[in-house]
Amino acid sequence: MPAKQCRFCQTHLTDTVVDLGMSPLSNSYVSVEQLNTKEAFYPLRAYVCPKCFLVQLEDFESPDAIFNDYAYFSSYADTWLTHARQYTEKMCERFATTNKKLVVEIASNDGYLLQYFTERGIPVLGIEPAANVAQVSIEKGIPTEIGFFGRKLAQKLVGDGVKADLLLGNNVLAHVPDINDFVSGMKILLQKDGIITMEFPHLLKLMKERQFDTIYHEHFSYLSFSTAEHIFSAHGLKMFDVEELPTHGGSLRIYACHSDFHGHVVRGRVARMKEKEARFGLKEIATYRAFAEKAKSLKLELLATLI
Ligand SMILES: [Zn+2]
Repeated sequence: MPAKQCRFCQTHLTDTVVDLGMSPLSNSYVSVEQLNTKEAFYPLRAYVCPKCFLVQLEDFESPDAIFNDYAYFSSYADTWLTHARQYTEKMCERFATTNKKLVVEIASNDGYLLQYFTERGIPVLGIEPAANVAQVSIEKGIPTEIGFFGRKLAQKLVGDGVKADLLLGNNVLAHVPDINDFVSGMKILLQKDGIITMEFPHLLKLMKERQFDTIYHEHFSYLSFSTAEHIFSAHGLKMFDVEELPTHGGSLRIYACHSDFHGHVVRGRVARMKEKEARFGLKEIATYRAFAEKAKSLKLELLATLI
């Protein structure tokens, strides 16, 4: 077996945070033929990098196998639509997005969010890897590029004259297998004075509340604000604001721009969030080791109740 390396900084990984054993892929369709065969099981094991503290799953599966028949359609959830509508209102208010600005969403799904920008006459572009889901979005009149987002796709779009004034992605950062390719792609696609917003489940919440159920195969990275800031910074992007959201058991919404753009004041919330994470011990390997011990004993307790 090849040595495991951090998907961000390539440091050798030895510390397991959670080992949930063998589990099936949760978001895959199970077809009639597959029901007759055995569903594929994969090891579900999360590591922490001792250098950048990125909590991550080991590589085991190509993203194609996960996303080709991706079964989740965002518009199915009412609460998620409300969340998308409120986000649109907020962004329009805060950054005065006018009809000249282009809003680009990565993993735009069926257009559940971009439809609210379209309603306001703001130009949009969705990027969605699952062709069946993208098709639904296109039928709604939302321009959608089918493909995996990364450097290559960003360069192609820029070549076509596309630059994002607002570049967003909800629950996608944690799902990408190559986080460096993804973040550097955002750097390429972002307009000089453009804004990035990303939402992802907060590692601090996961560890504080022991949310083991949020660990699953499609979810490659588990991010703290500090680690996300470190990754963005390595690609020439800086965080200028952060908010805590109740979604997915506790998420963060980060705001970023080019490192050399000085049009946004860095909010006090950025420093406060880093302090809060440091206080919990997210920058010490001992914290993760203690968590791993707790996870192990909880798993044994659970097994005992099943026998
Ligand atoms: Zn690392």
